[in-house]
Amino acid sequence: MTTIRNNLQRVRERIASACAAAHRPVNEITLLAVSKTFGPEAVREAFAAGQAAFGENYIQEAVEKMALLQDLPLQWHCIGPIQSNKTRLVAAHFDWAHTIDRLKVAQRLSEQRPEGRPALNICIQVNVDGGTTKAGVAPAEVLELAREVAQLPRLKLRGLMTIPEPAPDFAAQKAVHLKARALFDELRHAGLGIDTLSMGMTADLEAAIAAGSTMVRVGTAIFGTRTAK
Ligand SMILES: *Cc1c(COP(=O)(O)O)cnc(C)c1O
Repeated sequence: MTTIRNNLQRVRERIASACAAAHRPVNEITLLAVSKTFGPEAVREAFAAGQAAFGENYIQEAVEKMALLQDLPLQWHCIGPIQSNKTRLVAAHFDWAHTIDRLKVAQRLSEQRPEGRPALNICIQVNVDGGTTKAGVAPAEVLELAREVAQLPRLKLRGLMTIPEPAPDFAAQKAVHLKARALFDELRHAGLGIDTLSMGMTADLEAAIAAGSTMVRVGTAIFGTRTAK
């Protein structure tokens, strides 16, 4: 077995154990393989091992990679910051965008989504642990932004996404993830038909699943350590 195939198997086992511990069915969790900084060969290897959904942070890098992988039926998720001048590329090339924290960016994505493509799936990024310099909308503002995004014709609001600061242990990780979960439940109760809670990475996917994550974004545990970009 190749390393990526082995690694993917291990990650799937981690997800299955976390689901068992949380009494959740394993099919509630989607694994997003975060391929940023890795080349198209790494993506091909993961695809050959059964992985079809990939997350990318750097839009230009992602679009170049996609062009080399057009022969594969892959699903692409934008999980990096989206500047206004990059919305056209995101709207044209991605299936999902996880990092929406401003209405203006959402409006541009909706306007620029090409006619022939299905609606762009959207998660609103929430700053759950309140870092002042961090991306993400403040928890108190999530509901209002979600209602506005849900109105945009070429977007489909799917849920929330978080990138908490690293926390020292399982309990601390889970406490932060539970805040995101509470917001997710609040939006659902408010009538927004959302189904996705994008949280959990290599270091904290078990805690995220325990708190209710439906999509974990895993890079290092699948592709290995990234060299600084
Ligand atoms: C890089 C990245 C990941 C993957 O992180 P790992 O710790 O390598 O699993 C997940 N989500 C976002 C937003 C990232 O930037």
